[in-house]
Amino acid sequence: MEENNQIKNLIIDMDGVLWKGETPMSGLVEFFDTLRRKQKGFVLATNNATKTTDQYVEKLANFGVEIPIFQVLTSSEATAQFIRRQYPARKKAYIVGEIGLQKAMHDQGFDLLEADGFVGAGARADFVVVGMTRHVCYQHLASASYLINHGAMFIGTNPDITLPTEVGPLPGAGSILAFIETATNVTPFIVGKPNEPMFKEALRRLDGNPADTVMVGDRLNTDIVGGHRAGLRTILVLTGISKEEELANVDVQPDWVFQNLIHLAAYLENSK
Ligand SMILES: [Mg+2]
Repeated sequence: MEENNQIKNLIIDMDGVLWKGETPMSGLVEFFDTLRRKQKGFVLATNNATKTTDQYVEKLANFGVEIPIFQVLTSSEATAQFIRRQYPARKKAYIVGEIGLQKAMHDQGFDLLEADGFVGAGARADFVVVGMTRHVCYQHLASASYLINHGAMFIGTNPDITLPTEVGPLPGAGSILAFIETATNVTPFIVGKPNEPMFKEALRRLDGNPADTVMVGDRLNTDIVGGHRAGLRTILVLTGISKEEELANVDVQPDWVFQNLIHLAAYLENSK
């Protein structure tokens, strides 16, 4: 097979690649200058389901990078669009999640089932959609479980069991999904990385295909494994979660490894 060195499009993870917390990576502005000068298509894709796309556009603007909103894809947006495309006739959804998921579902025209506490006997929904939320309580988990037991489809934004914080890993979306899965004995369908729907939505926005697109990320088990499974070539950047030593112990190897964004930009500068 002929080796394909052309990189036409990039799907780029954000946290650990473009910034760490509130600190932009060195060379961030110049990296986007390179993408534009080399006419690369790109979508910024994150499993984080709590924030809205506007919040990401604003964060990047504060770092000196202007991005049109359609080039930012959260797992919440990917989830809402996936459900709408897959099940256009069904509209009623119950959400366990934060503003990012609420807004994405609302924007796609879903009818959101609202309840202060438990949804109540007799309540029904087409979908229970679950993402990370720091405001979850028993009533939400009970409502979600009740609705799933009464026919709602169980969908998760992303599988991350934990999220990295200043004090170490704390429960993420995957842990909330696990609670409901245990309670209902129903396995959720998950949209975010490493699963394919997220990559498909990004490719759709790029009007690209897997052969000319690369996934850039800092996590071997989501970005690199997911990109590889979706048929993309992959780039690991070593400024986030995964360390170079871990490469010796994984089956799916990235096609390229770069120390940081500056090295990646230099490579793209000289690429086709
Ligand atoms: Mg990351």
